[in-house]
Amino acid sequence: MQNIIDRFISYVTVDTESNPNSETTPSTEKQWVLANKLVEELKSIGMQDVSIDDKAYIMATLPSNVEHEVPTIGFVSHFDTSPDFSGANVKPQIVSDYNGKDIVLNAEQNIILSPDYFKDLLQYKGQTLITTDGTTLLGADDKAGITEIVTAMEFLINNPEIKHGKIRIGFTPDEEIGRGAHFFNVEKFDAQWAYTMDGSQIGELEYENFNAAGAKITFKGKSVHPGYAKGKMINSMLVANTFISELPADEVPERTKGYQGFYHIHHLTGSIEETVLELIIRDHNQKKFEKRKEKIQKIARKINKKFAKQFGEDIIVLEIKDQYYNMKEKVLPVKHIVDIAEKAMRELNIKPIIKPIRGGTDGSQLSYMGLPCPNIFAGGHNFHGKYEYVPVESMQKAVEVIVKIAELTALPNFGLEEPKSKTKKRK
Ligand SMILES: [Zn+2]
Repeated sequence: MQNIIDRFISYVTVDTESNPNSETTPSTEKQWVLANKLVEELKSIGMQDVSIDDKAYIMATLPSNVEHEVPTIGFVSHFDTSPDFSGANVKPQIVSDYNGKDIVLNAEQNIILSPDYFKDLLQYKGQTLITTDGTTLLGADDKAGITEIVTAMEFLINNPEIKHGKIRIGFTPDEEIGRGAHFFNVEKFDAQWAYTMDGSQIGELEYENFNAAGAKITFKGKSVHPGYAKGKMINSMLVANTFISELPADEVPERTKGYQGFYHIHHLTGSIEETVLELIIRDHNQKKFEKRKEKIQKIARKINKKFAKQFGEDIIVLEIKDQYYNMKEKVLPVKHIVDIAEKAMRELNIKPIIKPIRGGTDGSQLSYMGLPCPNIFAGGHNFHGKYEYVPVESMQKAVEVIVKIAELTALPNFGLEEPKSKTKKRK
């Protein structure tokens, strides 16, 4: 336990906030500090082939300790933290034997982490929590994942009687700005499949995520003195308003859950001459996802037609870009990789929570790059803000899950039950 706490604190106290407005990789120079430290640590615990490339992607190998052929598997996490909230000068606080009551994060500023609001806290009564001091995020997303992977590798190195195949580990920068997978060298990683350790509460196991696209919609207008505007002025803000009112009002993030997709307007700026609206489109179902994109185009066409004569050209210019896809397509053909993780959890008395992610992960991009990659819990809660916390026991369990997955993968049929013989078809 103390090993995990010390390691985790040594990571979160290094500021690794990423920056979406930067063009470089890593997006912030300071990410190198932790990256270089991780390289040294991996070498010192006895990992092989430890490498860091010119973009700070770290890879390392734990060689197989069995004679027979075992598929190479990987574990991946990211060392940057979210630009949504400050990650500088993180001062982690340790709450031992949590009593189920309010936790004062910061007495001076009266910042309280309360189970009245964050009900999940109650399931960790009696456990050791690591919290912030109320002025920064914690960075359990995803330094908990890194802590777990390093600790699991160290454990396997120190306990060679546990049999496993070759294991590759990968740490990336810039996941929080959507670029973690961008420069991940899947060929060099050379694993048959991998797991991101980047989920939230204990038990989470995810292999379905959104299909995602972003749209930038530009509405043009014509500015004329209001006193002389009749029949001449076109107010682009009102055209945008017409567009928005054509979108299904209930299909927004705040009114949907589970497998329900949505349109989400996240940016709108305008003047009479020009209004720009940015929205994202999300759906787990590929057909519905395509339909949603068509819907946007249809609305634009309809309005363009309406203004064709008056404006002379298209009044709406539409740019839609796909962002990422549901990894389910890539994972289902190799479903055993999920089954192994599920079995690992059950053997450790962890109740698997298998649900679709309402977002994306690096694993979804990696899956489409040829590395099927479900996501496993790292243990933290309330990511990207001052209420972020992680139970040490959950991190400990995640370490055990990694070790168990490594063990199962080296067993005949991955320790999974043989598929039941197919019922014979009647002729
Ligand atoms: Zn993360």
